[in-house]
Amino acid sequence: MIQCAIVGATGLVGSTFLKVLEEKKLPIDQYVLLASKKSKGKRISFMEKEYIVEELTEHSFDNNRFQYALFSAGAKISEKYAPIAAQNNCIVIDNSSCFRMKEDVPLVVPEVNPQKTFTHQGIIANPNCSTIQAVVLLNILQKYGLKRVVYSTYQAVSGAGQKGIYDLENRSTNQFKYKIWNNCLPQIDIFLENGYTKEEMKMIEETRKILDLPSLNITATCVRVPVKNCHGESINIELEEEFDILQIKQELNLAEGIVVLDDPSRDIYPINSFVDGKDDVFVGRIRRDFSVANGLNVWCVADNVRKGAATNAVQILELLLKKQ
Ligand code: NAP
Repeated sequence: MIQCAIVGATGLVGSTFLKVLEEKKLPIDQYVLLASKKSKGKRISFMEKEYIVEELTEHSFDNNRFQYALFSAGAKISEKYAPIAAQNNCIVIDNSSCFRMKEDVPLVVPEVNPQKTFTHQGIIANPNCSTIQAVVLLNILQKYGLKRVVYSTYQAVSGAGQKGIYDLENRSTNQFKYKIWNNCLPQIDIFLENGYTKEEMKMIEETRKILDLPSLNITATCVRVPVKNCHGESINIELEEEFDILQIKQELNLAEGIVVLDDPSRDIYPINSFVDGKDDVFVGRIRRDFSVANGLNVWCVADNVRKGAATNAVQILELLLKKQ
């Protein structure tokens, strides 16, 4: 019997796990929903049944209870409980930033580096939401050689969980330093000594790890915008080799997990409200950057809670189940 734990099942990503799992109908016999003490006993409808949320404790994984666990309860919870789960022969797919840069933990985007999934030693990390959509796109351009990448992000408040959405809807400042309502905040996560935010450094380091390009020239500016869901990213790329812009559009259009929406003559490009609830990475405004040799500008939008978190993790679970 295959049992799977969902840790953080009451959260924004956790509840999206449930939606994605309902849609995908994986060969899992039983799910167990776990959250904090506060949610113990809460009833949640899932797969046409009523589930009662259990409190996550050090004993939740005893006696090899689960084969798999999807974690989305924050880095501190993952740091404490993911190793306990792994010690109990449970393969953890973790959505937090806790293990992403650890050498022995694969950081997987199934469209890009699916083979890494099977190198795990009990824990597999799901990348940061803004990194996932960017690497799905960059991976296709790798054949031209990536010389330099500049990320500028326009990230939705849902990236900060339910509290982020609350702050936008109530014009409050619980989650953000300033009111996100009517403002764009050039700060996501804390500032580091080098002047970058942690979110920006996550994008830089995770991109290098996933693409296996440790010395890729890359920089990032991450901005929180007053939008409920879906991250937008302007990505400026310098390629090593010459390219044909129509061919690049075709290659992106044919790529797994990418949808090209790009027709300036009809004002067509990806926007948040269209992408909301979808699993693909949407790409448009594909054009040459005339200021450098082999330069390319792209606009890319994805649902950060689905492809940027829950869907990507469930895709990793699917890869594991297929190999069983
Ligand atoms: P959220 O909406 O705030 O949900 C947090 C979840 O963690 C809730 O289910 C909460 O349970 C649970 N939790 C908190 N403390 C706990 C404890 N002591 N024991 C067990 N469970 C506990 O946050 P979220 O947006 O879903 O994010 C969750 C994780 O996913 C974070 O690591 C985040 O960085 C990552 N992530 C989020 C996104 C995104 O776009 N939102 C994208 C990628 C990755 P209670 O309801 O009981 O408090």
